[in-house]
Amino acid sequence: MGGEGIRDHCGVFGIFGHEQAAELTYLGLFALQHRGEESAGIAVTDGNQMNLHKQLGLVGDAFPKSVLRSLKGNAAIGHVRYSTTGSTTLSNAQPYMVDYSRGKVAIAHNGNLVNAHILRSELEAYGSIFGSTSDSEIFVHLMAKPSYRNISEAIVGSVKRVEGAYSMTLLTEGELVGIRDPYGFRPLCLGKIGEAYVIASETCAFDLIDAQFVREIEPGEVVIIDRKGLKSYRPFQGRPRKWAQCIFEHVYFSRPDSKVFGENVGLVRERLGKILAQEQPADADIVVPIPDSGNFAAMGYSKQSGIPLAHGFTRNHYIGRTFINPVKEMRSFKVKIKLNPIPEIVGGKRVVVVDDSIVRGNTSKSRVKLLRRAGAKEVHLRISCPPHISPCYYGIDFPSREELIAYGNSLEQIKEFLGVDSLGYLSHEGLLKAISFPKENYCTACFTGSYPTKIFDQMNKFKLETGLNPKQKVDA
Ligand code: SF4
Repeated sequence: MGGEGIRDHCGVFGIFGHEQAAELTYLGLFALQHRGEESAGIAVTDGNQMNLHKQLGLVGDAFPKSVLRSLKGNAAIGHVRYSTTGSTTLSNAQPYMVDYSRGKVAIAHNGNLVNAHILRSELEAYGSIFGSTSDSEIFVHLMAKPSYRNISEAIVGSVKRVEGAYSMTLLTEGELVGIRDPYGFRPLCLGKIGEAYVIASETCAFDLIDAQFVREIEPGEVVIIDRKGLKSYRPFQGRPRKWAQCIFEHVYFSRPDSKVFGENVGLVRERLGKILAQEQPADADIVVPIPDSGNFAAMGYSKQSGIPLAHGFTRNHYIGRTFINPVKEMRSFKVKIKLNPIPEIVGGKRVVVVDDSIVRGNTSKSRVKLLRRAGAKEVHLRISCPPHISPCYYGIDFPSREELIAYGNSLEQIKEFLGVDSLGYLSHEGLLKAISFPKENYCTACFTGSYPTKIFDQMNKFKLETGLNPKQKVDA
């Protein structure tokens, strides 16, 4: 519930041609904090030197004034991270900065490479030494190939080797680069602040620094910005277009004030809620959102159904990733510390609870209990996306298939487990109906099990473990 069991992924930022590059990157990362709370980092260059600071923890804690002041230069990239590949250590925090034959380069990556293990083994066999266990570092090693004559050749050559999800910003001593994979899994936007260019995972980062949104960097596009301006490259031109933008960015990950994949996230969520009310009506007195990710869908549900919206849960916003799980005897605090029901609002009422997803189901179950204890007469749970039945290999850290409650359990079984009076999910068709663009542009693999790419690493693992041909299992 409220993205329960789902770990966020990463946010990237970049700026070129501004005296306050590091400060603006810091603010941009603040706006992108929801995309990753484990570590934050900024690399900055003045054209001659490149400096890097990264730290585990939140953006606000990672950059004390003195550190920020020391990051001088007019171009920078930044990153906030939640680990999807590689563990939570400072060496896996980004940006990565490496020295290679053409100078220094720093990279910030959102997404997951699905052929990372294959490439890494290959590179190690040829003598590459990795400083981290993260898949993102692979890209820099690919770029270091001596035959590339310049940055554009190095990037265009390298993107053709990697498979999977990558929205990246990359910094050299003279260029800022934005790269989006040909499927366009993760968002990446281009903006301007005065004469300076900015790149960010989401437009909410532009809003904070008063930058103008220019356009999205398109799936399969590379933009290279230097003192002469911006050049766009299309390394995959000629390949059949196959976009797979992550629909879950709209359901849960992105901020509702961001424009993602061409439309405002909050409005898409409201439409999800309206369609959910049409598909899964409920006889109830109030509609209660699970804040914050359920807010807009609940508003849509309320508008469509005519059932009044009531904020029956209060959310505590001050729990970072550092919150220590209480000992077993104190577990009941764990759920309540984040969301607390208000008995004066839910007491004696038939409540429709609107949430974005159910993953394992344990948190949802605890919250249903809390609502009942607060006096709710009936609890009808409505979910603004279809059941999650498959993991994500493109940068979202869902638990394994076996841990997903909707995998192998019927609707009735899930309802029983959660202890709700009724349960209704949005249909796959309903999900796609809420989007304004052709449905072929989106990935919905975690709801269908049908992946837009081959999952090379999973195939390898399966083959090693079983000796069988994995195609049926992972490509189904
Ligand atoms: Fe997004 Fe799900 Fe596709 Fe992953 S599998 S990219 S979460 S839609």
